[in-house]
Amino acid sequence: MGNVIIICEHKNGELVKQGLSAVKAGIDVAKGTGGKSCILVMGSGMDSVKESASHYGTDMVLLVDDPALAGYTAEAYTIAAHEAIKSMQASLVLSTTSAFSKELLPRLAVRLKAGMVSDVLSISTDGGKASGFSRAMWAGSMVSDVSVDGEVIIATVRGTAFEHAPRVDTASEVKQVSVTINTQALRAKQLEVLEHKSTRPQLADAGIIVSGGRGLKGPDGFKIIEKLADLLGAAVGASRAAVDAGWVPNDLQVGQTGKIVAPGLYIAVGISGAIQHVAGMKDSKTIVAINKDPDAPIFQIADYGLVADFAKAVPELVEEIKKVK
Ligand SMILES: Cc1cc2nc3c(=O)[nH]c(=O)nc-3n(C[C@H](O)[C@H](O)[C@H](O)COP(=O)(O)OP(=O)(O)OC[C@H]3O[C@@H](n4cnc5c(N)ncnc54)[C@H](O)[C@@H]3O)c2cc1C
Repeated sequence: MGNVIIICEHKNGELVKQGLSAVKAGIDVAKGTGGKSCILVMGSGMDSVKESASHYGTDMVLLVDDPALAGYTAEAYTIAAHEAIKSMQASLVLSTTSAFSKELLPRLAVRLKAGMVSDVLSISTDGGKASGFSRAMWAGSMVSDVSVDGEVIIATVRGTAFEHAPRVDTASEVKQVSVTINTQALRAKQLEVLEHKSTRPQLADAGIIVSGGRGLKGPDGFKIIEKLADLLGAAVGASRAAVDAGWVPNDLQVGQTGKIVAPGLYIAVGISGAIQHVAGMKDSKTIVAINKDPDAPIFQIADYGLVADFAKAVPELVEEIKKVK
């Protein structure tokens, strides 16, 4: 019987929403193993994060609040997470798959001499521990069942595969953990955060996504689909081809090497439907494709397809939606 620690990212004093999938997965595993579920949050000046983290139904919140953690670096956060986890007899350490967890958790696995399994779709429990993990392979065309040996297992879970833990009124117990970080010995420090600012919803949280690909021909094509996105209150996504061409920032990329999303509505415009793109959006509830090639593979997974030139079809769609609104 071991405890489950869920490492959560935070932003502007709140837990990041996509991390709540790992919280839900962690609470369920702890129920199955009889251990405790604990959210681990790290940073500096953590009063509002502490308050936010304590309302998601875990048995405990582990809090590391240290000036050395003021700006994120993988090195300092690995030291902090390692010390916090050692204090809790953890058998499973979880986080939602993200750029943060992809960087931090493998480092942690090395320190803890633990096996790691990434981008998990489901977890089974047996004999007081997490016994089996299923994970997608080869851009989602296969699912493999994995078991991991050792006292501690590290895993990242796919955000779209688990529900979000709901906010609850009762507050969890908070345990503050002190860590020793020799800032002089750190080899990296954060100088500046360059954030892509947008008033649109984040890809991971959006109920509707309008995504563009190479078929949009350039940044001006994206301006056309942005009008549709804004009318629908949607996030804007992109294929890797559009990102690689420098038309949009790379945090908009959807797919195997971008974000995995599952909104209620995904509108793919000028996107061919390569397997690596489809791997990132195929679980969307309704998929609409606009493409001028009737044989484009995207139509094989689309619920609704429109064979048309986007430069004509999207402005027409915008006008029709305005009329309905
Ligand atoms: C290891 C690896 C990882 C990858 N990861 C990703 C990933 O995460 N995400 C991702 O997206 N890709 C990824 N790719 C790239 C992927 O294989 C494709 O190259 C990419 O998705 C193609 O982008 P696209 O559909 O925009 O471009 P294209 O395949 O060139 O398709 C453009 C489409 O636009 C249509 N079109 C053209 N003009 C118009 C018009 N006027 N109106 C309407 N439609 C039009 C065309 O008919 C065509 O179907 C990865 C590749 C590799 C090898």
